[in-house]
Amino acid sequence: MADQEKLFTTEEERAEGARERIEALRREIEHHTYLYYALDKPEISDAAFDSLMRELRELEHEYPQFITAASPTQRVGGYVGEQFAPVAHAQRMYSLDNAMDLDELATWMGKVEEDLGFFPELDCELKIDGSSIALTYEGGVLVRAATRGDGVTGEDVTANMRTVRDVPLRLRAEALGAVEAPSIELRGEVYMPKASFDRLNAVAEANGKAPFANPRNAAAGSLRQKDPKITEKRDLATFLYAIADDAALSVEGQFQLLEWLRSAGFHVNPDVSTAKSANEVLEFCQKVQEKRGNLPYDIDGVVVKVNDFALQRRMGFTARAPRWAIAFKFPPEEKTTLLRDITVQVGRTGVLTPVAELNPVLVAGSTVSRATLHNLDEVHRKDVRIGDTVIVRKAGDVIPEVLGAVDSLRPADAKPWEMPAVCPSCGSPVIHEEGEVAYRCISLECPAQRLERLAHWVSRGAMDVDGMGDEIIARLVDEGRVTDVADFYSLSADELALLDMGRVAKDGSPITLGRKTAEKLALALEASKGRSFARVLFGLGIRHVGKNTAEWIAAVFPSMEALRAADEEALAQVEGVGPKVAHSVYLFLRTPGNGEVIERLEKLGVSMADAADGTGDELPQCLAGMTFVLTGSLVESGMTRDEAGEALKARGAKVSGSVSKKTSFVVAGEAAGSKYDKAVALGVPVLDEAALLRILETNEPPVV
Ligand code: AMP
Repeated sequence: MADQEKLFTTEEERAEGARERIEALRREIEHHTYLYYALDKPEISDAAFDSLMRELRELEHEYPQFITAASPTQRVGGYVGEQFAPVAHAQRMYSLDNAMDLDELATWMGKVEEDLGFFPELDCELKIDGSSIALTYEGGVLVRAATRGDGVTGEDVTANMRTVRDVPLRLRAEALGAVEAPSIELRGEVYMPKASFDRLNAVAEANGKAPFANPRNAAAGSLRQKDPKITEKRDLATFLYAIADDAALSVEGQFQLLEWLRSAGFHVNPDVSTAKSANEVLEFCQKVQEKRGNLPYDIDGVVVKVNDFALQRRMGFTARAPRWAIAFKFPPEEKTTLLRDITVQVGRTGVLTPVAELNPVLVAGSTVSRATLHNLDEVHRKDVRIGDTVIVRKAGDVIPEVLGAVDSLRPADAKPWEMPAVCPSCGSPVIHEEGEVAYRCISLECPAQRLERLAHWVSRGAMDVDGMGDEIIARLVDEGRVTDVADFYSLSADELALLDMGRVAKDGSPITLGRKTAEKLALALEASKGRSFARVLFGLGIRHVGKNTAEWIAAVFPSMEALRAADEEALAQVEGVGPKVAHSVYLFLRTPGNGEVIERLEKLGVSMADAADGTGDELPQCLAGMTFVLTGSLVESGMTRDEAGEALKARGAKVSGSVSKKTSFVVAGEAAGSKYDKAVALGVPVLDEAALLRILETNEPPVV
């Protein structure tokens, strides 16, 4: 018994020893993290640091009861979930007022002096170009990290911020004495160092992914990852510079706050200066501007703050920003570079946009190699020519802009640039309407406009091909099965069923569209063949021809044949159609290739004319606004449920697969199942097959 007791004590003693060692290791690791990040004066090698971490990890593995959330081993946690929880800021996170140049900055300082009656000590800091972050510590331990959001409510990004190495998981014991509240909220900026940004983009490019535009976007994106393991790899860093409520800390001013933050273990930017005159502030701004490019992170200005907290309180806030601080924003940066070429991009709607192809140049923190020139008028107004040395301007996050050319460096043979006569995407003649800036390609066969045109054709207001979504269209295009709208009608259900959706199942086999969906789609395509001529006209996507205009035109010219025979003048006579629309329709029908697509549509069975009575073969939309659910089998008529659904939809109804309170009617055939029960439970009226057939015959809504 005595022996056993002794053994027990030994075990306990060993655990106690481990607990002490764990705590000592944590303190040691935190101390070196502090030396490394806060003081920038590491004392031990990376290898020695890693060795301390390894020992801690092993001990915690053996004694998991001693693991705490603040342990340096616990930085990277699990998945965040679908959404970041909202965090209501106890103190609003303000934005800053801007001074756009040194004169505005001087004016602000003049006002401060006037308000206070003397020139106060001003604290000058770099304006870090990242995302605002608020870190809350309770009892010295990090409990929450939140983004600014709209200033009132932010998002909880604790799991991700914990992975940022320079954020202490607990405050250094030495600094706790100054803390006056159980909870303290500290604020700063989380950013991505330029080197990490370059690495990240190099990897993105190697994987064929779109690169981030600048380090600020990359930092914001990294902060909002669902998986903290990804955030961890992004190499984010912070600079802390503020406290939410200065009553929580016994410090008197901004400069002192920065020193305390450093002593508590935070990464604090070293480039700070206290100024006693306006001149000293302006000098600081100028100096920073000169060395801006050499800093390892992006900045977009200088923040000047009244140092004394008591004075800050006296000055207070406006609705959006403190009165005691201002952000001096650097003016946009300008660089010169060679305009190698002007290329033309064809947009989804057929508009041609000239694009400047530049020798890559670093402007305001990011490399610029292309810039839009918007349109031909712009190119002429700026008079930029291929071979010119051009001036490129960019302000921080703003899209780069070509300002103009350096005339004296223009090569002798440089000619004014003109739009190509044919579309660079499909070779069709380019159209330029009088009084319009844009140049366009209006070919039905243009690859650049393909997806847009195909999606428009099947859309609700046009041919209304139910189920033909963007993803299926994109796959049909990628597989080379559909290039223009007529190709839709050469697809069989068999072929659709085998369409490779570009994804693989768990067992590695390719996912195809599948028989059920394919049959529905084939039915929907078939049903669309009989749509009114107005819908066909609208579906073709002729410029200026919206849904109403198409109806007005079809009322006078109810067939393609009649429309083709009409000249511009006759078209312009149509009520609601002016010369502009008339010209557009006329031109469209005569654009090479368009006639051929229309002919193929007709050959494949798409109606190009309304019925003789001029009403079109469209059915009365007697079921508009109603939702039907079908269940059971329709034995009397022998219709499949899909066919019955199409018939209801042709009369304006929506057909849904499940019963809810919003369902207007449930049609129950033989052997109706749970949908019937649900309808009864929800009090949704149930129709039998006879009632369904009555609707289809009379084209009148059901009576209940
Ligand atoms: P803005 O978003 O342009 O209104 O600028 C205000 C933002 O600048 C603040 O919300 C901070 O996120 C950021 N900022 C960067 N560096 C500092 C700094 N040293 N002091 C205060 N704010 C800063």
